[in-house]
Amino acid sequence: MSANKIIFSNQKGGVGKTTTAVNLGAYLAEKGNKVLLIDLDSQGNLSSAVSADPKMKSSYDVIVGTCAPQQAYQSTPVHNLSVIAGGIDLAGLSVELVNELAREFFLKNALSSIEQDWDYILVDCPPSLGLVTINAMCWAEYVVIPMQCEYFAMEGLNLLMRTIGNVKKQLNPHLEILGIVFTMFTSRTRLANDVVDDITAYFSDKVFQTKIPRNVRLSEAPSHGMPINLYDNTCSGALGYASLAEEVMNRV
Ligand code: ATP
Ligand code: MG
Repeated sequence: MSANKIIFSNQKGGVGKTTTAVNLGAYLAEKGNKVLLIDLDSQGNLSSAVSADPKMKSSYDVIVGTCAPQQAYQSTPVHNLSVIAGGIDLAGLSVELVNELAREFFLKNALSSIEQDWDYILVDCPPSLGLVTINAMCWAEYVVIPMQCEYFAMEGLNLLMRTIGNVKKQLNPHLEILGIVFTMFTSRTRLANDVVDDITAYFSDKVFQTKIPRNVRLSEAPSHGMPINLYDNTCSGALGYASLAEEVMNRV
């Protein structure tokens, strides 16, 4: 069996990509899956959220081929959950690759030898649709789109959908949208409910039933280097990600 290959992408910043990758990964691992997280963001937020050592080999080294993926694995505080760290080198990667042949396929080629070793590989993308994200889309089977329930949520969604469509048509026919997940949801506001209604009308069953509530525990956990299942497994955010993990396991 080969891993389920999932990326978290939305070029809008701060919508919950990293929080979703880390905590979904933690609950998939808690439910008995072998999970590898890969941080493709130069900010390295995912890496620090699981206590990764920034001095170790990173996803940059793996992509440019100076290190095998196995040499970049780091364990995390969660059993069954490992990570390949991100780091500042990734910021220049698009420029470095621009004149390479098949520059969209560096990640795919780099990871081909490890796919049998994991149940899930989850890749956290940077907030852009540049070459790093395109590499992730050329490798993946599934895209999860985290979306914040706010007025400008729809802005940019067309471009994201078009990019996914173009990659699917021209570079990776296996790419599918696994689902849209609402993050930082507050059921009390009319606006949040309107955004959910609009997006659900358009995407129907692609929208995950689970909505991740706004929960301060989710924003505190990364500074302790722990996913939410270790930091506070009874808070509303933890229950949200546990439920999302069930949905994901049923969809793949
Ligand atoms: P970037 O585009 O910069 O990579 P991102 O899409 O990865 O951002 P996150 O870093 O996951 O987004 O989240 C942005 C901020 O919101 C972080 O400070 C995070 O802790 C916080 N946050 C995410 N989800 C929630 C939530 N459900 N409740 C409260 N805070 C949250
Ligand atoms: Mg992020």
